[in-house]
Amino acid sequence: MYDNKIIILEKFVLSKSTFIRGVQCEKSLYLYKHHYELKDKVSPQLQAIFTQGTNVGLIAQKLFPYGVDASPSSHFKIHESVFKTKDYIYNGESIIYEATFQFNGVIAALDILVKDEKEWKAYEVKSSTSVSDVYINDAAIQYYTIINSGIDLKDISIVYINNQYLKNGSLDINELFIIESVYDRVQEVLSKIPNQIEHFKNVINQDEVPDIDIGPHCSKPYDCDFKGYCWSHVPDYSVFNISRLNIKKKFELYQKGVVSFEEIDLEVTSFNANQLLQITSELDNKTYIDKSSIIEFLEDLNFPLHFLDFETMSTAIPIYDNSRPYQQLVFQYSLHIRNQFGNLEHREYLAQTSSGIDPRKTLVKQLIEDCDESGDILVYNVSFERGKLNDLASIYPEYSIELKSIISRLKDLMIPFQKKWYYTPEMKGSYSIKAVLPALVPELSYEDLEIKEGGMASTVFTQMVNGEFEGNYQKARNNLLEYCKLDTLAMVMVYEHIKEIVNDDFGS
Ligand code: SF4
Repeated sequence: MYDNKIIILEKFVLSKSTFIRGVQCEKSLYLYKHHYELKDKVSPQLQAIFTQGTNVGLIAQKLFPYGVDASPSSHFKIHESVFKTKDYIYNGESIIYEATFQFNGVIAALDILVKDEKEWKAYEVKSSTSVSDVYINDAAIQYYTIINSGIDLKDISIVYINNQYLKNGSLDINELFIIESVYDRVQEVLSKIPNQIEHFKNVINQDEVPDIDIGPHCSKPYDCDFKGYCWSHVPDYSVFNISRLNIKKKFELYQKGVVSFEEIDLEVTSFNANQLLQITSELDNKTYIDKSSIIEFLEDLNFPLHFLDFETMSTAIPIYDNSRPYQQLVFQYSLHIRNQFGNLEHREYLAQTSSGIDPRKTLVKQLIEDCDESGDILVYNVSFERGKLNDLASIYPEYSIELKSIISRLKDLMIPFQKKWYYTPEMKGSYSIKAVLPALVPELSYEDLEIKEGGMASTVFTQMVNGEFEGNYQKARNNLLEYCKLDTLAMVMVYEHIKEIVNDDFGS
């Protein structure tokens, strides 16, 4: 029975997140506790994911409105939450957000604790779209601390995002979230929890860093944030960068002491044709060109050539009507048009970020105008742009004829590199534009740009839409425009380069 007698809290040793860290890797747990300074810096994109998770948690509270909040006054005063939770329960509160419990040196905060007709039920909110195994461990450690604190918990559920929800009007949170009981799955792992806790306490009390080598566990279930430290002995370009090589095979090589390309014995290990090309190209510093396939590709192109690239945003909570959670929405494009004489023209679109204005409709109208009516439209990875255009055609049927016409003109500039008709050692096994550009046109670089890749562009634009962006909006817009413009200029330069390479055989 939960009572309000004064509790003296021992210093907690494990939190829910450090417990989960220990399940993934004991070395990560130890480093986190004793060598926090070795942890990798949190990137702005990862920070944006954390912020989104917090926002999803706050919105999910509306599933159980009018609760009391046991959050601490600061992240460092988590014990406050234990006392607040205890007081709230004693005072008969039936909905508690951030309800926090401590038992056996473990502290765990639960997103929502609800007393439903005398029965307590726990709800943990996740911004993902399914229940993964790691969430069961997460729920189990919560269940363990809650029931051992005297709460007779009748159920525990994961609340996650329903990616089939289509926003139409104001947010329907009952449709947005799926509540799935994990009570039975928690019971299956519960008996292991006390031993795991004792074991992790022993790990933390060791004098030495646990002797654990790198392995597949470094990225599963999460990308470990001590990789910068643990992987420092692995060269930037190694067997781990062999394209599409199974992770198990990569670590088999590593465990045999094969890390650099020079250490690979092609008589002992088998690779597929593309992997062999990557390895031999690196070892012999040799470029491979299949001129006839490239010429065939170039001859099939119709002028004027349009080089098109989209930038997209994707949020857990849909912002605009007619969109779903995590749907990628186009907010920007860049378009370079090159005629058969080599003259270049640039067109672009970047949506306004004023809240509530769907970026897509005005984008569609301008895109249709900018693409003209003839000439191929070259993109890099056609399935992406085709997918977004099909999405737009289904949302705006009034423009579907024009959009389908644009789709019919799409061609993929990635093909010569994906099919390895052109491969240089500098591409390092990748055929992404970010790998191909520096290999072919080293004078053109993303390095000097404020925004260097699509993830960053998406984060900045989303922050601007949500009013969370802290920098100068106009400057950020210019940075977005510059970034996207370079993406299509890069495609133009790559096209010019491959044309040049085969020029003797191809003509003008
Ligand atoms: S990088 Fe790998 S080995 Fe190092 S702490 Fe993380 S999971 Fe463990």
